[in-house]
Amino acid sequence: MNEAIFLSLHSDFFVILTRRGDDSLILKPPQKTKSLLQLEILQDRYLEVPPDIVDAFGRELAGYLGEKSLPYYMNLTSLHSHYDLYNLRLEHNRHHFQMDGLFLFSNFLLIIEVKHLIGKIMLNDAHQLIQSKDTEEKVYDNPIMQAALQKEQLHSLLSKSGYHSIPIHTLVVFTHKKVNLSIDHPDIITSQLLPFRLKKLSKDFPNHILTMDQLLTLGKELLALHSEKNLNLLQDTHIDLRNIRRGVFCPKCKPIVMKRRHGGWVCPNCNYKNRDCHIYALIDFIYLFGEFITNRQLRWFLLIDSEYTATRILKDLGLKAEGNTKNRRYNLLPLLKFQR
Ligand SMILES: [Zn+2]
Repeated sequence: MNEAIFLSLHSDFFVILTRRGDDSLILKPPQKTKSLLQLEILQDRYLEVPPDIVDAFGRELAGYLGEKSLPYYMNLTSLHSHYDLYNLRLEHNRHHFQMDGLFLFSNFLLIIEVKHLIGKIMLNDAHQLIQSKDTEEKVYDNPIMQAALQKEQLHSLLSKSGYHSIPIHTLVVFTHKKVNLSIDHPDIITSQLLPFRLKKLSKDFPNHILTMDQLLTLGKELLALHSEKNLNLLQDTHIDLRNIRRGVFCPKCKPIVMKRRHGGWVCPNCNYKNRDCHIYALIDFIYLFGEFITNRQLRWFLLIDSEYTATRILKDLGLKAEGNTKNRRYNLLPLLKFQR
């Protein structure tokens, strides 16, 4: 069982350190990224979601599901202790690179590129990845090259910080149970093979270069450098505000919108009553529009007519206000503790 031992606010988001039975520690667990949450909310809150948003959502969700399945296989291996970071996004030479999994062992560092694909997977003569599913064929970048690029960037970044000597290895792991992997390469494997591959790798790197304390320091340094990808929905996508579904959704029959009655919310469809459902609508607001809201924006988004009611809601939530009376805005971030 994993036990959350430490909760800290890290670049607006919660980072949970999870301790396992041995000295291994997940420094950054697989979590839905901010952009995945944004895309997920758009599926509910946007009328006629454009195909590129549906595709992006599918890709990000698959990546998340793949990463989420990895800790199980990592824990099956009785290896030296290690520190694990999932979905770490670092900046190097003004470019960002992202590693699905980074595992810090005292003898080597391991980058895992996760592929959560189904169907038959092959490499063509040009070394591109081909996915055949039903009658459809899709072409992807070569994942070994993707991982090699991450390795190069990580190596260069670590060298700058004085970590020259620790070797870095890369693996491509296919995590979907329904994958038919037709590639014969020791570093392109399914997750079932991961424990065995790890054992072999650990023997390939016999020298222990960093102590566990040094590794933990390195892990924390890397974690501090993590920068979450942030979609600016209005700029980066073709979101039209007029197509946003506003209102407080009934949790049972969304996207049906609840009505404000006697200081609470009632669903006109199933009659479900709750006083706090606006909190989840406001969390959606954070991901769609950012962490600040004015009284007027709150009325617009929650479909409330009365300024008094809006003031009451803001007051009851105990949100910190900033700005003078005319430009007063409230910081919604504390609501993220009620994460959906
Ligand atoms: Zn309902």
